[in-house]
Amino acid sequence: MGEILSMPDFRCASCGKIHSIADESARAHCLKLMDRLKLCGSLDFEHPGSETDQRLSTLPLFGEGRGQMFGILVCAPPIPGGQEIILKAFSGQFNGIWEIPGWAPPLLDPAIFDAAVKLADPAIKALSTEIDARSPGIERRTLIEKRRILSQLHMREIHDMYTIRNFKDETTSLFALFSGRIGIPAGTGDCCAPKLLNYASLHGLKPLSLAEFFWGRENRSATKQHRGFYAPCNDKCAPILGYMLCGADNED
Ligand SMILES: [Zn+2]
Ligand SMILES: [Zn+2]
Repeated sequence: MGEILSMPDFRCASCGKIHSIADESARAHCLKLMDRLKLCGSLDFEHPGSETDQRLSTLPLFGEGRGQMFGILVCAPPIPGGQEIILKAFSGQFNGIWEIPGWAPPLLDPAIFDAAVKLADPAIKALSTEIDARSPGIERRTLIEKRRILSQLHMREIHDMYTIRNFKDETTSLFALFSGRIGIPAGTGDCCAPKLLNYASLHGLKPLSLAEFFWGRENRSATKQHRGFYAPCNDKCAPILGYMLCGADNED
């Protein structure tokens, strides 16, 4: 069982203050989501039984592919006296799929992302083949440098697809939030917390509680265990969550 870590505070790049969010109530809903994942063995909750989309089976999470993070965001009732809205998300893509009905969508447009990858991948792969065929020397070094620049441009193009929004109707870019840092890690913006907060902001929902857990076979570095609760990651999420939570807490 993974260690239960509490939700940290995040410094905000918009107002300079520290923002945080509770996690107790979201954890309770995470436990319910775990039960559902176990019962269904799939992320396709909408088609139980024989109509289940086979690509959404959770079986690969317990094999070589290893587990994945899942998360819950509890939002305040949109109308007084109404019911809380419970949002759920999986981190990154699930089995190569960005969008699954009932789950928070990614921040980027999957069609635009796929088109960019289709365009850039062959050129990068062709360069790699050429590099492998060359013996060490100046030509090989030039090719390696060319590939490095091409990959960087491609990453920049992808990072440019993310609009980071908060709860004060403000938006910013990954470049602004990561300025002064070594670089933007691949997959930034694809974790559960940013997906959930982005969806809430876009739909005028007020977030109350957020929690994330790991489901499946322990990750390679053995830092995440099946059913363990974990705080949002330090490298990708911590630099953006302060901004994303701005305007969502109750301090004012
Ligand atoms: Zn993260
Ligand atoms: Zn702020």
